[in-house]
Amino acid sequence: MIPSFSHPALQALQQQLEDELDFLCLPEAPWMPGRIFNRHPILDVAIIGGGMAGLTAAAAMKFAGIANTRIYDGAPAGAEGPWATHARMQTLRSPKDLTGPALGIPALTFRAWYTRIHGRAGWEALDRIPRLVWHDYLQWYRQALALPVNIHHRLQNIESIQAPGLAVPIARLTFSVGTEGEQHVAYARHVVLATGMDGLGGANIPAAFTNLERRFWRHSSEVFDFAALASRHIAIVGGGDSALDAASTALEAGAARVDIYVRSNDFSQINYWKGFTHSGHRHGYALLSKEQKAQTLGFLLGNATPPARGTLQRLRDAKNLYIHFGQETDGFLAQDDKLVFHSNGKPQAADFLILATGYKTDLQKRPELHGLLPHIRFFEAGALGGQLPEASQTIPQLDADFSFQSATAEGEPFLSRIHCFTGQALLSVGKVCGDIPGISVGAQKLTQGIVGKLYQAEHEWQYEALTRYDEQEITDAALHALRRQTAPGDSLAEASVLFDEPAQ
Ligand SMILES: Cc1cc2nc3c(=O)[nH]c(=O)nc-3n(C[C@H](O)[C@H](O)[C@H](O)COP(=O)(O)OP(=O)(O)OC[C@H]3O[C@@H](n4cnc5c(N)ncnc54)[C@H](O)[C@@H]3O)c2cc1C
Repeated sequence: MIPSFSHPALQALQQQLEDELDFLCLPEAPWMPGRIFNRHPILDVAIIGGGMAGLTAAAAMKFAGIANTRIYDGAPAGAEGPWATHARMQTLRSPKDLTGPALGIPALTFRAWYTRIHGRAGWEALDRIPRLVWHDYLQWYRQALALPVNIHHRLQNIESIQAPGLAVPIARLTFSVGTEGEQHVAYARHVVLATGMDGLGGANIPAAFTNLERRFWRHSSEVFDFAALASRHIAIVGGGDSALDAASTALEAGAARVDIYVRSNDFSQINYWKGFTHSGHRHGYALLSKEQKAQTLGFLLGNATPPARGTLQRLRDAKNLYIHFGQETDGFLAQDDKLVFHSNGKPQAADFLILATGYKTDLQKRPELHGLLPHIRFFEAGALGGQLPEASQTIPQLDADFSFQSATAEGEPFLSRIHCFTGQALLSVGKVCGDIPGISVGAQKLTQGIVGKLYQAEHEWQYEALTRYDEQEITDAALHALRRQTAPGDSLAEASVLFDEPAQ
């Protein structure tokens, strides 16, 4: 079968894309000077992460004439982002007509892509976007825009380097390549961390699990074999979609029984995040006071998101599924071949447990960021009025261009060139990153900030380039007629040679 990102019908879309970019005079011609350090060309921007955010950021940079950009992703080819790995829903929660990473270009929308392959009737018939179809669309997006990606390059370290002749520090990036431990080094003026939901931390795993044998449990963000759960009794902790999708996947794989332990007393019905998407929220949030931000986000984060429609439909007729609301679980222990624990003090047992407990922001968990840690400015404890459920002092404060704010004077020149383009930017910048609705706005804000700083850092070169600019907008012959009108006695009139007809 032809993968849908290389479907023959997409040739016409490629032509449409090229025409639309041409009408908009995009991409801009490159305007930054190339620089070399240690015989390596210095990238203008290194983007870490080739998921939706990294791709959109790379496209926005390309359109702005920042051509010396490269994406690095630690995952093997085709496994970027959650879609083809640990995501278990059948369809996306988002409505199909969101324009997501399109950056205002019609041919880059999911709709244009899907309609080219399946026709207008196919588009009308589509309800929600199947998960792997969205994955294919992102692969096409990367290919259609020829975005340069180094696959299977995992960032391990970022350090600040002072390159001779450059006014500001650059980043030395060390990557491990593939699975053999080979190393790759790159240098970049700016680094964009587009590393996803766990990019500033990792899976939220209660301490009690650290010493519990792995054969008894997995976190929902891990990739594992559900077929091995056939005929077994599965417990799931958590009440979000990842818990419900894991339950569906386990039951479809033949699990004998699934019990879900949910902390809240019911599922919610209103997705307040959907009310937080208009351009006022996108552009205005960053301008709010700390108190206003805290009020808004405290409300949004304090209300759970309801189950997605597709997730509910999939479980509608599920047998052997038991949901326990209002439960606190603890005391997990391996006993013979069972996992035993307590839920609201009552003893429970299962063969296997899935923790669907989400993610935790904790930069200590990301070795590649350790060098930056002493300088990063975090939100102060309680700075946001205690309205936010997660401890705010684990979350970095960012500027409007997603760059880290520095807690130390020496860290500032470097950190102002490292940009956190992940969902953890929510507190500082608003919902313009981390999911589909605001990603183009976020990528444009990010790009404008980086463009400004690149220009400023090379101002001397840019000034000289300006003075060397030599394209004649108008010829001597064309000017001649006007010069003939010079008033007698004024300087041009005295230079009679100017009145001679110019040589043709
Ligand atoms: C199950 C699930 C369902 C979702 N459904 C929706 C939905 O319906 N609608 C919606 O709007 N949003 C949804 N989201 C949220 C969001 O859209 C996705 O998380 C999306 O993948 C975010 O894109 P991203 O580029 O920020 O991160 P990702 O797609 O996760 O990409 C990050 C990339 O960074 C790479 N990376 C990480 N660390 C390193 C490193 N050190 N070195 C090199 N590479 C690294 C990873 O390999 C990964 O490919 C969903 C998320 C999940 C998990």
